[in-house]
Amino acid sequence: MAHLWRTVALILLVFAALVTSPAQARQNAPITVMSSEATPDFPNQITFALSATSSAADIRQVELLYGATRNNALRIVDLPVTPGPTVALSHRLDTQVNYYPPGTEITYRWVIHDAAGNTQESEPQRVVYHDQRFPWSERTARNVTVYWYEGGTTFGDDLMATVDRAITNLRAELGAELAKPVRIYVYATLEDLRSALQSNSVEWVGGENHPDLGIIVAAISAGDDAEMRRIIPHELSHQVLHQAIENPYGGTPLWFDEGLAVHNQEERDSTFDEMVTQAAQENRLIPLEALSSNFPADPDQARLSYAQSRDMVEHINDTYGEAKLQALVAAFAAATPVNEAVQQVLGRSIDDLDAEWRKEQPKPSGPAPDLAGPQEAPADRFSDPPVLPVGVQPPVGAANPPATPDDQPPVFIGWLESLPAWATLSAAAVCCATGILLLGTVLLVGLRLIGVDKRV
Ligand SMILES: [Zn+2]
Repeated sequence: MAHLWRTVALILLVFAALVTSPAQARQNAPITVMSSEATPDFPNQITFALSATSSAADIRQVELLYGATRNNALRIVDLPVTPGPTVALSHRLDTQVNYYPPGTEITYRWVIHDAAGNTQESEPQRVVYHDQRFPWSERTARNVTVYWYEGGTTFGDDLMATVDRAITNLRAELGAELAKPVRIYVYATLEDLRSALQSNSVEWVGGENHPDLGIIVAAISAGDDAEMRRIIPHELSHQVLHQAIENPYGGTPLWFDEGLAVHNQEERDSTFDEMVTQAAQENRLIPLEALSSNFPADPDQARLSYAQSRDMVEHINDTYGEAKLQALVAAFAAATPVNEAVQQVLGRSIDDLDAEWRKEQPKPSGPAPDLAGPQEAPADRFSDPPVLPVGVQPPVGAANPPATPDDQPPVFIGWLESLPAWATLSAAAVCCATGILLLGTVLLVGLRLIGVDKRV
């Protein structure tokens, strides 16, 4: 619910930002920006500071507009101003409240109004919210920058080689590469990682993926080869797919996104095959359709969802070939609804595809269990945060079997927040129009009922 309100607020803010967007800056404008800067202090805050002067009248209103450069979301802050010909003011953005992951590039600008009616908008500036607490080494190749601070150049070489292999595989598989840069922050311990995540993050989260921001945050200790070869290709798969599909109206079914990601891991989750076999025998496989937008909250069911998703992607790849995988990506990118896309590309419905895959699984040895298990999700699952928030894995050495990384933002909200401003604005306009229409209808019907328009 908090997400929903945040999003509504965001829409209103974007709307307000557009509506109040001032006239173009004029040459020799009376208002001059003398200094403007943003000082990051990860993970606590970013301080924005401005000093400006007007030769025409007192400056009496200043707004700060800022947001992550990559996802076009804008927030607007009306700053308290003591009117005067020259003003100096600052705004502290509490990033424990408004979280940004390390490496987020933020664009900001100021809108300054004076008492004579002049408005000046400053040039957009950018600041990268880097985590400056660690002595990072960094290397860039194929549009991926990796940051790490333990393990020296040997570990850096390993990381870059893993990135290179992953991008090569993904290009062959999906026919796509990263058009926009991606940053990967590799923390050496879970403790260090957690200090960089939102303060209310779940204890056992092992990383986070933000495809809309081009950022991956993970904990991989230097020399943990298996973890590196599991996490890096998995998370890069999400990033490549997200960039290939990027379309406000397009949507990838979750089983396709996670299935590809798990399939791409170099370190294969060995328990997955057994998990699927057992679920098939016990007649409790999850219908493919149910894996489109959410995975179940129950950890066992969530792991089964990842396992089935991987199997389905591999089934499509083995039965129909890589070209069809790419055709599916193209269809999703063109905003074709999932059922239609599958029908178009594979020539069968989602249910038929599911049935075809099930034929490859062991026959159930008994009747379906009471429908208490697989399908059940908490009643409020749509307002819940995602199942296993990002690189979900139990702490190293924990007794639990490892879970797969999952980095899905709440689907609807993530989608809404990734919309370009014009789309959000249009949506807001449509909502307003519908509201007015409804209100009008109710009013008319009401008037009619009480007989206002009856002719005498
Ligand atoms: Zn994932």
